[in-house]
Amino acid sequence: MSSQEPIDEIEAPLIGIDRHRMDTDGQGVTTLVGFHGCPLRCRYCLNNHCHDPRNVWRCVTARQLLQWMAPDNLYFLATGGGIAFGGGEPLLHSRFIEQFCVIKAPQWRITLETSLHAPREALERVVPHVDHYCIDIKDSNPVIYHRYTQCSVEPVLENLQWLLSLNGMASRVVVRLPHIPHYNTQADVDRSRRILQDMGVRQFDEFHYLTTPRQ
Ligand code: SF4
Repeated sequence: MSSQEPIDEIEAPLIGIDRHRMDTDGQGVTTLVGFHGCPLRCRYCLNNHCHDPRNVWRCVTARQLLQWMAPDNLYFLATGGGIAFGGGEPLLHSRFIEQFCVIKAPQWRITLETSLHAPREALERVVPHVDHYCIDIKDSNPVIYHRYTQCSVEPVLENLQWLLSLNGMASRVVVRLPHIPHYNTQADVDRSRRILQDMGVRQFDEFHYLTTPRQ
C-alpha cells in the first residue's frame, strides 16, 4: 500500500449507500457508495445534496466500510459484482479508496463513477485497484463544459488521454455522453463522440438529461 496514513486515520464523508443494485454499475450485484463533495457545479446535478456539508450521512474509515459490506460478500462472489464508488466525486477520496481496496476481498470488482475532474495523482492512486470506469464527460467543448459545470474541461480530457494510454484500458472504460437541454445539441454530442473516439474511447453511453436546472 502506498498510502502513508494508517488504515484507521482517514475518514471519508458519505452521502449514502445503495445495496443490491443489478446491472446498473457494471457486472453483477453491486453496492453503490456515494461520497460527499464534488468540484463541479453541474446545472442539472442529480446529487445536489452532495455539495452541502449538512448532508453528510456518515464519516467512515475503510475498515468500517468493509464491515458494512461484509453481508454483501456472497452476492458479490456469486455474480462477479462488487463496489461502485460514486458521489459526488470519488476521486476526491482516492486515499480512502486505495485503503479500502487493499483490505477488501480480492474478488470484489471495483467500479469508479467519475467526472475525471481531479488531480492526476488521485487517478494514479486508484488505477491499480479499479476494474471498470464509468466516466461522465458532459461535453468535450470547453465553452459548453464551462457553461454547464463552471469548470474547465482540460483536466478531464488530459486525465482521460492518460488513462487510455494504459495497456488494455479501452475495454474497461465507458464514457457517458449526455444530451444536455439548453447546453448542447446533437451536433455537439456527435463532435464529442468523434473526438473521444480519436482518443481511443470504444464504449459510449449516450443518453438524455431529463432534469431541471438548479436555481
Ligand atoms: S459531477 Fe455529478 S455530483 Fe458533481 S455537480 Fe455534476 S452531476 Fe453533480
